[in-house]
Amino acid sequence: MIARARTYWTAAVDACGRGAVLRLEVLQVLAGLLEGAVLALVIPLVEVLAGSDDVTIPWIGWHLPAVAAVGLLAGAVALRALVQWGAAVSASDVRLRTTDSLRLSALEGVLRAEWTYVARQRRSDIVQATTTEIERVDSAIALFLHMGVDVLVMVATALVGIAISPLIGCLASLSLLVVVVVGRRSVRRSTELGIEWSERNALFGATVTDSLSSLRLIRAHDAADEWARLLRGAAREGRRVERRYIESTAGLQAAIGMLGVVVALALVLVGRALGLSVAQLITLAVVATRLLTIARSLLQQAQAFAHFSPSLDAVRRISSETREHAEARGAGAGPADAPPPAISLRAVTAGYADPPVLRDLDLDVPAGALVAVVGPSGAGKSTLLDVLLGLLPPSAGAVTADGVEIADRVAWRARLGYVPQQTVLIPGTVRENLTWSAGRPTTDEDLWEALEAACVAHVVRRLPDGLDTVLHDFTQLSGGEQQRLCIARALARRPSVLVLDEATSALDRATERDVVLRLRRSGTTLVMATHREAVVGVSDHVVDLTRRDL
Ligand code: ADP
Repeated sequence: MIARARTYWTAAVDACGRGAVLRLEVLQVLAGLLEGAVLALVIPLVEVLAGSDDVTIPWIGWHLPAVAAVGLLAGAVALRALVQWGAAVSASDVRLRTTDSLRLSALEGVLRAEWTYVARQRRSDIVQATTTEIERVDSAIALFLHMGVDVLVMVATALVGIAISPLIGCLASLSLLVVVVVGRRSVRRSTELGIEWSERNALFGATVTDSLSSLRLIRAHDAADEWARLLRGAAREGRRVERRYIESTAGLQAAIGMLGVVVALALVLVGRALGLSVAQLITLAVVATRLLTIARSLLQQAQAFAHFSPSLDAVRRISSETREHAEARGAGAGPADAPPPAISLRAVTAGYADPPVLRDLDLDVPAGALVAVVGPSGAGKSTLLDVLLGLLPPSAGAVTADGVEIADRVAWRARLGYVPQQTVLIPGTVRENLTWSAGRPTTDEDLWEALEAACVAHVVRRLPDGLDTVLHDFTQLSGGEQQRLCIARALARRPSVLVLDEATSALDRATERDVVLRLRRSGTTLVMATHREAVVGVSDHVVDLTRRDL
């Protein structure tokens, strides 16, 4: 628990800076002190209510008229409210900045990590960690900060109790130890259940993601009932963990509530036996009740913190692992508008695991040529493209451009355009869809040129606002039109090498031929993984991955 609290503190300092966290702590200490002051001023208030015209302020020893004492209490209450407001705003600032920083650090890590690492990760784990788990981290930070306030208020209250009657105050403070001892086991159990909850949550996320990405198949095979059963099972497991957590925490809470009343009564009786005044007894009763109320609330928060806090591990795991696998960046971007290079693979072995997908592969792509990569599904076409894209470093052999080995893969990618199998369109305008990956400033002229080369300019001209038409839902465009828009997006980069992965599969033969011929005329070095005869027919070379001894 303490170790976890320290991790949260470090996360807050890393995200907001030591100054912001210290400012919050000063406000919290002030709030605690003012809480004690208000409580101590209850004694003169009771004396005023009992009819005294002059009262003595405890500890300071001031003799004040009744009106001034009431005014002092009102002033302390107002100041406490102001400080509490400042502490609440400051705490919310620290909480939100810490959560955002953790979430963005994980997501940025994913964006900058080696492809070989990212390709192995379950997408749903990343989604769950940066959505559901981070919400729990947010709650844990709120609890952590609030617990700080409660601890200070509790200390201030205990000091007031000790000042009124050292013996009774110490007894009341000792009763808090019982709460700590009894609560320790429950807090540990809450942590275990929190870890289990995160595991269940990851499983539930994976089931939801898989079912959504297989919707067409589920409907086609009429397997909705089976998937609904799987989802219900995963949700039930999550509920079971949550129920166990509530069972283990709620019982203890109820027991401490009862203990509070008994202890407060017992202390007042001891106080009476010791001959304390009515004002002191009332204040003591308030102190004892408050102490146990705060202790109970603190335990509840500690249990909840222990339950939520393991979620930070899921988020941090992504951040730290992605940083460990961060892609090394060389000198930076390669030359813009560089002439199309000749690419060679010499004895390249590459893959995602053992055995490798490509073994001892030799391949020559002459400058400005069109090379078609063919082979049955699973033969390694996409893997070969990943090697050419500099995403998958070969475990043996070399990839060269114009005879020079590609060392800086990030700079190499600045010269490339890529069109994946699945169309990727973002909610936004046509222009935004064309420019987000351009890597350079583009003019309207550049965009129309790219659209013409992808045989989709006439489609965009027909749209109500041309380049500024918002693509809310992509049904405005057919599958083939979307695919050509993706080709135009790659061309907007002015690539000297264009890599296409089954990127013309949704086009009719005539359009496909038209697109490929236009791409050829651009002079770009072209590598296309394809099943289509039309592409193979107009290519300069064909690499057939069916023969694994290539
Ligand atoms: P193709 O594009 O010809 O269909 P791929 O290159 O996609 O073939 O796949 C070749 C082999 O590599 C397959 O056996 C596939 O399971 C494996 N593979 C592809 N991507 C990954 C990955 N990210 N992790 C592990 N194995 C992969």
